[in-house]
Amino acid sequence: MEKFLGRITPEILLVVDEAYFEYVTDADYPDSLSYSREARALLTLRTFSKLYGLAGLRIGYGIGPKGLIDLMHRVRQPFNVNAAAQWAALAAIGDRDHVKRSLAVNREGMDYLKKEIAKLGLEQVSSQANFILVRVGDGERVYHELLRRGVIVRPMGAYDFSEHIRVTIGTSEENSRFISELRAIIKE
Ligand SMILES: *Cc1c(COP(=O)(O)O)cnc(C)c1O
Repeated sequence: MEKFLGRITPEILLVVDEAYFEYVTDADYPDSLSYSREARALLTLRTFSKLYGLAGLRIGYGIGPKGLIDLMHRVRQPFNVNAAAQWAALAAIGDRDHVKRSLAVNREGMDYLKKEIAKLGLEQVSSQANFILVRVGDGERVYHELLRRGVIVRPMGAYDFSEHIRVTIGTSEENSRFISELRAIIKE
């Protein structure tokens, strides 16, 4: 991050998408806010869609220098975030128990899925977020098979990972359902 910032001039707008930052435990993960300066066009984007579980309300936020935010205010739509979403976001951000529970469900689900995927003999990419990339062979086929059985994951061909699927950590029931359907499919 520091190397990158050193290579661009401060007037170049750098947008840092931190949709998953609340989940991260890796000490090397850069804190973009610590690089924020009035004289640097750095905009940090965060969302209520992941950890807080409010994706359907379409609300997130940006943090940046006053000058940059002022320019955004001049061009944004006047009523871009509705009142219900704002109230829900305010309630969620102050709800430490909700956040703790959400992190715990993710951590436990991640540990469980990592272990079970390894048991199935499949490669996986270690993750700091709320999803795992699993190498299943034919990602598109496994995606369709899972879909037919009522489990929705994401095929990754569009990202040039046609041998992988991406699975989001769910509740413990959802996670074990995913594993048993996946096991059945790869043993076919
Ligand atoms: C979810 C997500 C966002 C934010 O999505 P919204 O629901 O529009 O707030 C941004 N970037 C990435 C990579 C995401 O996965």
